[in-house]
Amino acid sequence: MTGTPFRVTIIHPCVGRHIGMEKYIRTWKMEPLSAAMVAALLPSDVERRFYDDRLEQIPFDEPTDLVTISVETYTARRAYQIASEYRQRGVPVLMGGFHATLCPEEVLQHCEAIVIGEAETLLPEVIDDIRHGQNAVVYRSSERPALQTSPDRSIFHGKKYLPIRLVEFARGCRFRCDFCAIQTFFNATHSHRPIDHVIRELKDTYRRRQLVFFIDDNLTSSLSQAKEMMRALIPHRIRWVTQTAINVAYDDEALSLMKRSGCQGVLVGFESLDAAALGQMNKGFNLMDGGPREAMKNFRRHGLRIYGTFIFGYDHDTEATFRETMNFAREEGLFIAAFNHITPFPGTPLYSRMKSERRLLYDSWWNDQRYRYNMIPFRPAQMTARELADRCVQARREFYSWSSIAQRARHTVNLRDPWMFMNYLIINAMHQRDVEGRNGLPLGDANWQSDILQSEHAVAAAELLREKQHGPL
Ligand code: SF4
Repeated sequence: MTGTPFRVTIIHPCVGRHIGMEKYIRTWKMEPLSAAMVAALLPSDVERRFYDDRLEQIPFDEPTDLVTISVETYTARRAYQIASEYRQRGVPVLMGGFHATLCPEEVLQHCEAIVIGEAETLLPEVIDDIRHGQNAVVYRSSERPALQTSPDRSIFHGKKYLPIRLVEFARGCRFRCDFCAIQTFFNATHSHRPIDHVIRELKDTYRRRQLVFFIDDNLTSSLSQAKEMMRALIPHRIRWVTQTAINVAYDDEALSLMKRSGCQGVLVGFESLDAAALGQMNKGFNLMDGGPREAMKNFRRHGLRIYGTFIFGYDHDTEATFRETMNFAREEGLFIAAFNHITPFPGTPLYSRMKSERRLLYDSWWNDQRYRYNMIPFRPAQMTARELADRCVQARREFYSWSSIAQRARHTVNLRDPWMFMNYLIINAMHQRDVEGRNGLPLGDANWQSDILQSEHAVAAAELLREKQHGPL
């Protein structure tokens, strides 16, 4: 051993860039919590540095001993480009994240080692193996970690992110919606951090009037745990937002605790108003206890603003589906909303169904040079792919029109608090400008001209593929 510390470079990849694109999409510039988690998990004697590909040039020639990249499906292609740069320079690359678990056989082609599953319990061991040149190719976490680690946000210093504090309380979700990669990754399980850790982290990092975003996949997957956390939040008078499933709307105590603990609004995955489509996506529970209109009444009664998300392209969807959804979104006064086509993420039941029905237009849309952001990667049943894409754009255009903004502002829940009303106007105006802004974005950097390097882990990759198709031996 020399006295030189082991140097680890943490990279957060962007989704992609057009040729000559200078500024990255503003609304996508949130603090990458996964990078801060990796930083927190590195052994204390490791020298760390962090580059966010969305905000800055990566100095590929800066000396380093290891690069870690957390890979999402949308950032996979860019992650492979970045990995190629480092590997051409002889620097080993370690990959983890959602996509490494959903598509390990593919990710393995672009790095020296991968972590499958949650990295908490494994990462110190993996780093130690790599630094001593004794690493395996595949590391797999066999159990859910205790979630005892707080992210190391010092790596964000000097970087200009949106002024929203991202905090995690719980991970995973107990439901099994067919399009959702969360249920595949966590196998429909759910776990949460110790509540006192979350409160301590908030006390240490919260700045007055800052908005906190609990990034949980479904904060109320366990209503009892969520309530306990909200009770603990009350004395701290923070303003927060989160994402939940609709079931919370029928629990008066939960809604009241949300409001009392400072919740400003929640993202709710309505997805569809159509019973047949909800059935096909295994989300029939969205129609429980009176369905979305009753849920909206309850949310409004408790002063909670709603970011509604809708997806289109299920087999029963027609032009009328868009019209009914728009009526609902406008009449119910949604604070904001998303109108997207369904996306078959690898590893999900939706992807398997589309594949078995031979409806995928690309085998791996996320890693296909021809694919662009917001293109439809499958053949819809009742309209063409072009019509589906156009109708989603049209829905966004109508929802963010001035007449719709004015109509939705009439709901007192959107008007009541001057600070949130100002946010209502700003955010809606931003979305109005961005109706088509992301369409056509390449996946990966179109300015990057080299070939993506492939690994020689053919045996391990074949084994992973076999396991995925037939289960472990
Ligand atoms: S409720 Fe939300 S997080 Fe849970 S499986 Fe369904 S879409 Fe995924």
